[in-house]
Amino acid sequence: MTNKRIAIIGAGPSGLAQLRAFQSAAAKGEEIPEIVCYEKQDNWGGLWNYTWRTGLDENGEPVHCSMYRYLWSNGPKEGLEFADYSFEEHFGKQIASYPPRAVLFDYIEGRVLKANVRDWIRFNHAVRWVSYDTDSSKFTITVHDHNLDSTSTEEFDHVICASGHFSTPNVPYYEGFESFNGRLVHAHDFRDAREFAGKDILVVGSSYSAEDIGSQCWKYGAKTVTSCYRTAPMGFKWPDNWEEKPAMEKVSGNTIHFSDGTTKDVDAIILCTGYKHFFNFLPDDLRLKTANRLASADLYKGVVYVHNPKMFYLGMQDQWFTFNMFDAQAWWVRDAILGKIDISDVSKTEMLADVKERETREEADDDVKYAIRYQADYVKELVSETDYPSFDIDGACEAFFEWKRHKAEDIMGFRNNRYKSVITGTMAPVHHTPWKEALDDSMIAYLQN
Ligand SMILES: Cc1cc2nc3c(=O)[nH]c(=O)nc-3n(C[C@H](O)[C@H](O)[C@H](O)COP(=O)(O)OP(=O)(O)OC[C@H]3O[C@@H](n4cnc5c(N)ncnc54)[C@H](O)[C@@H]3O)c2cc1C
Repeated sequence: MTNKRIAIIGAGPSGLAQLRAFQSAAAKGEEIPEIVCYEKQDNWGGLWNYTWRTGLDENGEPVHCSMYRYLWSNGPKEGLEFADYSFEEHFGKQIASYPPRAVLFDYIEGRVLKANVRDWIRFNHAVRWVSYDTDSSKFTITVHDHNLDSTSTEEFDHVICASGHFSTPNVPYYEGFESFNGRLVHAHDFRDAREFAGKDILVVGSSYSAEDIGSQCWKYGAKTVTSCYRTAPMGFKWPDNWEEKPAMEKVSGNTIHFSDGTTKDVDAIILCTGYKHFFNFLPDDLRLKTANRLASADLYKGVVYVHNPKMFYLGMQDQWFTFNMFDAQAWWVRDAILGKIDISDVSKTEMLADVKERETREEADDDVKYAIRYQADYVKELVSETDYPSFDIDGACEAFFEWKRHKAEDIMGFRNNRYKSVITGTMAPVHHTPWKEALDDSMIAYLQN
């Protein structure tokens, strides 16, 4: 073991990818530094670690979870499969392409149980503050241990921030919210679609949350769904009781006023208005400030913080690719820390030029296929520079393109399709029950033949 100490903040899919990356090097006989992963929740999995709680958790920490009951993968699992741990290896058979949350949690957990890295994680430890001392070249982390109810500090040579960015809600204000006579909730606090059975609901927004939360509510019996957009409609072939409207302007009583002069009375408003990158444990000189985009600001190679290259961030991009991209990043960061990738002679000017080049390339085209290929190229770039098992990334793109086509054909039926694994080459089975009739999202129900 080298005498370096590495802190990882967060044990969600990104932080766990980092643990697996270091463990795989150790398994090959390489010397690795001491690793400490701080996780404020009492279990791993990040957003996939479901809780019914909203607001504050049992320790008084903001609830991290933005997921809900009945959440099924919103993209095909063939686009996110770990290259070193296939779905077939985990489940002992190939499974259908759009698993519910509990199934994906089990899969994420399976790999890290096998890697035996749980002891590297300090659960119920909320990172309160990180500072960097230029004289000693060390980071000091202040952390609250909720098990002992005590605060302490430790020093590290590198910090890897993997705290996610879909947890702190972006909450717009509209006139009349205070006197709305129904339920008003942000997607972060949405948990159970059954609450809206028989109700007229408004979902505000036109991105994944609006599409999926509206679909969940529709599936579990909402009377009508209205969605409203600021820039462009989602444009799917919605069921008869789903209507798209332009921007909401104000609310009076239960009536929503839209920018085209129309109105709609609703029982509930669900704000699917996105999330903020939020790091209240980081000072200005270490804190990433970026929009949610494919080319994150200030991250060389998408992971090295240009203003202090001893600090790394994982998973801060907007995401087409998820688990396998986090892996590509984690393996790369590991090798930068181990010195196998030398970033010591990359100047700040060169790092900023790298960021600029990525931004320019992202902005060159707003086509969805272009964006998917753009992120695929990024994953390829990182994978080619480490020993992460190479896999058919173009094949994963094809699965994403098919997924997009299937959504355009049938928004309430796209999850009935299946795709071929780019890791094992096996075709997924058709799921036993069409998505809109599958009301039980448990793992037992999903995996039965
Ligand atoms: C509603 C929703 C649905 C989604 N559906 C899909 C999907 O179907 N497929 C898909 O691939 N992706 C999906 N995603 C994307 C999701 O971002 C990734 O799958 C993944 O969870 C990101 O992993 P992460 O580790 O980067 O962040 P997170 O999963 O957010 O994990 C971050 C971890 O950091 C911890 N943490 C935060 N702050 C601190 C602190 N101060 N101290 C200690 N620990 C801290 C948190 O407790 C958490 O465990 C979805 C996201 C949302 C919000």
